[in-house]
Amino acid sequence: MKFSSSKALSVVKRSVTPNRPYHAQWLLTRRCNYRCRGCNVWREKPLSPKEEVSTDYVKKGLDALHKLGTMEIVLSGGNPLLRDDIDKIIDYASRFFITTIYDNGSMAVKKMDALKKADFVAISLDSLDEKKFDYIRGVSGAWKTAVNAVETLKQEGIHVGVSPTISQLNLSEILDFTKYFTDRDIPVWYCLYGYDYPSENQLFGIGKKADEFEIKDKETMVKVCEGLAELKKQRSGIYITNKTLTVLQTLFSSGQRTWKCKALKSFFMIDSLGRVAGCHRNEPVASILELPTVWDSSKLEDLRRKYSECSQCTYLCYIFYSLHGNVRSNIGVVWDQWRNVKTLLRRD
Ligand code: SF4
Ligand code: SF4
Repeated sequence: MKFSSSKALSVVKRSVTPNRPYHAQWLLTRRCNYRCRGCNVWREKPLSPKEEVSTDYVKKGLDALHKLGTMEIVLSGGNPLLRDDIDKIIDYASRFFITTIYDNGSMAVKKMDALKKADFVAISLDSLDEKKFDYIRGVSGAWKTAVNAVETLKQEGIHVGVSPTISQLNLSEILDFTKYFTDRDIPVWYCLYGYDYPSENQLFGIGKKADEFEIKDKETMVKVCEGLAELKKQRSGIYITNKTLTVLQTLFSSGQRTWKCKALKSFFMIDSLGRVAGCHRNEPVASILELPTVWDSSKLEDLRRKYSECSQCTYLCYIFYSLHGNVRSNIGVVWDQWRNVKTLLRRD
């Protein structure tokens, strides 16, 4: 979707307004049609569509986010494209926010009309190796389906990219993977495998303990970060900032965390019941409809202070949101990603 000038102006205005929750992720459903080995979602008994928040509720929730000054929303799941009303949700969200939607590759072609309204479509794809990818996904034919989805969406002029979850299983091919897709003008943005031991009252769990995914080869991970920083100098389509790569390098080379978490400050999560938490590992604090009224409360201020000292996870999106969670660093993202911004502005 091409940004209308009024949306672009409004997003820029929100990005330079201090102390806003710039990023939100809404996990619209826990239903999923895949069986990925490193994921616990499909192992749970999912809520039925009737138990999930309704279309009207989601729209009101998006209004609340707009009021709070959020500029970017990621629609995820489960597989959000399994919702029958996803076309209405994308249409509504993309009027106000930079809207990204995730798919495991299985639904995108069927939902192409809806996806034309999104700003970015991320297809999860972890490997160039068909057998390995089908193994990771637990679904035979998953690689072919995902690659076909990427090609079909691209032909339709949808801004589609691939999103590998970096783990021990694909670490050694991440640079080649990045070259392969950026050579074909398909952008890449990254996740990092993580498993968190369940904690009390957490919003939901992510990941399944699977030792084969856990990154043990830290030296190679550091080299991957260095390699991506080098590749960024030569080509567009690599959607990770140098700031993020630098903190990852330090984390994997010395174990030091050189960022402070900004959960419930510059970002938060919303689940399929409309509950909001700083991140999925923490307790819900309000419904999305109540959030604007409690946003400035002392209770949330106390939680922000607590989360800023937390070191319980290394999820890449949370690191990115924490590093790029104020006006100066919002401008920094545009600077860092200038090659990509220029490409986006040139799109029809
Ligand atoms: S990783 Fe994503 S696609 Fe795979 S089972 Fe979990 S929610 Fe579904
Ligand atoms: S570091 Fe931040 S995002 Fe991660 S578990 Fe702690 S509060 Fe949540």
